Order: sequence, then structure tokens, then C-alpha cells
Amino acid sequence: MKLQEKVSVVTGAGRGIGKAIALRFSDEGAKVVVNDIDLSYAENLAGKLKEMGREALAIKADVSKAEEVEQMFERAAQQFGRVDILVNNAGIRKDIPFHKMSQGVWDFVIAVHLKGTFNCTQAAQKYMVKQCYGKIVNLSSPVPNSLGERSQTGYASASAAIQGFTTALALELGRYNINVNCVAPDFIDTEMTRTMARREGMYLDDYKRFAAARIPLGRIGKPEDVANVVLFLVCEESSFISGQVIYIRGGP
Ligand code: NAD
Repeated sequence: MKLQEKVSVVTGAGRGIGKAIALRFSDEGAKVVVNDIDLSYAENLAGKLKEMGREALAIKADVSKAEEVEQMFERAAQQFGRVDILVNNAGIRKDIPFHKMSQGVWDFVIAVHLKGTFNCTQAAQKYMVKQCYGKIVNLSSPVPNSLGERSQTGYASASAAIQGFTTALALELGRYNINVNCVAPDFIDTEMTRTMARREGMYLDDYKRFAAARIPLGRIGKPEDVANVVLFLVCEESSFISGQVIYIRGGP
């Protein structure tokens, strides 16, 4: 077991990539805080983990709200005593042509993706600095993504900023034995990509075939492809890697 007794917080873990990460961590012995803005998703997963005899806690919090995030970490620390691992996975996509993008949509995407990453990291580092131990992994996206889709100025800006945030933070937190890294997956089969297919008015199978044809390894990704890399980044084997962005997209 690679994460025995480690306490992890995974945001947006109720479904998709976050869920796969939380499951993978739990398989390796970690105690998992399953965060989501949708409590039913979070409770569903935490309930399943508990049925399997694992330690898990579902917490509803909107990562874009600093107060809710603070309370989440307080609850996590009360329940499990420490916070070793944070995965900033919660994110949303609102693809809108730039000339139609309202201030509200721009702010929403940046608030969840970028400010959410800031909020959770700031709350988590307090515990990690005291412990002189921590692992932070941020979810971003390649900019531009492999399909070169349009209408992503908000999402792409947040993704690029998260990569910069990762590097800058790794410089600051290294002295406290905290590793900060980023993964940038592309075309992983989740509800987020299914929504894209619907938006494009394409059948899901056609959409996936179209995407796979443009990926050098000839297939689209699975949430587990991302979870495996994130697991590596929070394990001892990767303890000399920090400030890096790893692309998970079946090609360069
Ligand atoms: P998803 O939409 O399937 O799941 C996202 C989860 O985050 C949902 O459970 C949702 O309820 C939760 N969430 C949304 N807003 C939240 C908030 N404010 N606070 C807390 N939870 C919130 O998405 P996914 O495909 O699993 O993507 C996960 C992450 O990976 C995102 O950051 C996304 O940008 C990134 N990503 C995904 C892909 C992909 O191809 N799927 C590619 C690159 C990056």
C-alpha cells in the first residue's frame, strides 16, 4: 500500500477524473475526503468506500468560496488529524465564442478553476507547512487542447494560469518538503467530454472516434489513466519531482 495512513482531499471527486483519483488513493490505503459541490455525488462515493471498510468523508463545498473551503479543511483535519495530499480537480468548462462571452461566464470559469485551486491550496498549505510534508497536484489542460477547439478563452486562460501557479508555488513550498505538480490531461472520457459532444450536436461514438483519430496512441483517455499519474505524483517514488506539468494525452 503506497498511501497507508495518508490523508487526502480530492476536490470535485463525486464523478469523472476526481472519482477515479479518490478510488485509486483509497485502494492504496489513503483516508479520502471526497469533496464535491453536489453532495449526493460525494456521499455516494464516500458511502461505497466505507462499505468496503475504508476511511472516507463526504464534504459539500464550492471550491470557489473561500469560507466553505476553510470549513472543509477544518472538518477534514478534525476527522483525520492532518492533511497530506490535495488534488485540485474541481473544474468546469463553459465554451462560448469570445465575442459572446459575458463577464459573468468569464468570472465563473476563473472562479471555479483558478480561484478554487488558490482557495484549496491556501487552506491546505497551513497544515502541510506545519507537518513539513505535503503533496499538491493541480488539474489543468493542455493549451490549446489537442482538438484545437474554439470558444475556450476562459477555460484556456485558467488552465495556463494553473500551470504558472504550480511552478511559482513549487518554488515557495519546496523548503517545507511540499511537492507541487500539475497534470494536463486531454480528452478523457467523462461527463465533461460527453457534454461537449452534445453541444457539437454529434453522436457520442462519432465524437470519440473523431477524437481518437487525432491522438497518436489512437484512443481516448480513461479517468484511470489520469488517476495512475496523480498517484505516482503523490508517492515517495516521485519525491524529487516538483513544479512540473505532465501531459496525459496519448501523444506529445
Ligand atoms: P466532470 O465535469 O465530469 O466532473 C467535475 C466534478 O467537479 C463534478 O463532480 C462537479 O460536480 C464538481 N464540481 C464542479 N464545480 C465545483 C465546485 N465549484 N466545487 C466543487 N466541486 C465542483 O469533469 P472531469 O472531466 O472529471 O474533469 C475533472 C478536472 O479535469 C477538471 O478540472 C477539468 O477541467 C480537468 N480536465 C478534464 C479533461 C477531460 O477531457 N475530461 C481534460 C483536461 C482537464
